[in-house]
Amino acid sequence: LEAQLRQAQKMEAVGQLAGGVAHDFNNVLQVISGYGSILKLDERLDERQQQEVDQILSAAERAAQLTRGLLAFSRKQVITLAPVNLNDVVESVRKFLVRIIGEDIQLKTTPSAGTLYIMADLGQLEQVLINLATNARDAMPRGGVLAIETGTQEVESPLDQESGENRPGHYAVLTVADTGCGMDGETCKRIFEPFYTTKEVSKGTGLGMAIVYGIVKQHNGFINVYSEPDQGTTFRIYLPLYHSDAVPESDAAKQAAPPR
Ligand code: ADP
Repeated sequence: LEAQLRQAQKMEAVGQLAGGVAHDFNNVLQVISGYGSILKLDERLDERQQQEVDQILSAAERAAQLTRGLLAFSRKQVITLAPVNLNDVVESVRKFLVRIIGEDIQLKTTPSAGTLYIMADLGQLEQVLINLATNARDAMPRGGVLAIETGTQEVESPLDQESGENRPGHYAVLTVADTGCGMDGETCKRIFEPFYTTKEVSKGTGLGMAIVYGIVKQHNGFINVYSEPDQGTTFRIYLPLYHSDAVPESDAAKQAAPPR
């Protein structure tokens, strides 16, 4: 509980800080990259100076990336919920995910047999998949398999080991599994903390999973993480199923509910 509280406080503090600073910071960055780009066109620059300008530009781009992450995280976005078929979400970002993970990683998608309607913000769920795929790619530098599966699950007692706050009910489950490097216990525990990263400074921001956590919470869902060093990592994201009462209980686990 203490850890959770600390996490919530940290999220709040980061959110406020980010909201206040990131926007202004972005303006400063645009000046840097704007003038940098102009300078780069100057024919009087010798080769070494050209390279130095390139360094400035790529550092500015990197900083812009960080602020974008911060903005995405802090934005207390009013999410617009609408009935969304979870299988359509996966399909809509499929091409994009393939581009993220590259040729050495195989993407396997296994949609549920029926439709899987949840009340969700499509763009936000796409963001969840993009962040997870980016991490999966980083966890599999020598290739592997990224498997995305959808299904339903009846949750009888709160599943979340940590908070125990999740309501029992019908859930749509989005499973994202990789065959990558996995995580040790410490990383597994801290994975959702903003700015927690095990990656080198130029690679990780430590915001990806914090963003995922925020989005899933906003959807009244929860996340379970299973990870084994050198074996891989599986994320199971539970989102309340928007289901018709007409679906018989016994079928609910196998078959998705149609929208009302
Ligand atoms: P970042 O990717 O910028 O480091 P994240 O918040 O996305 O930040 O992830 C935090 C940390 O969690 C990563 O640095 C990594 O150690 C760990 N992690 C996340 N996803 C995976 C994964 N699929 N496999 C192994 N480790 C992961």
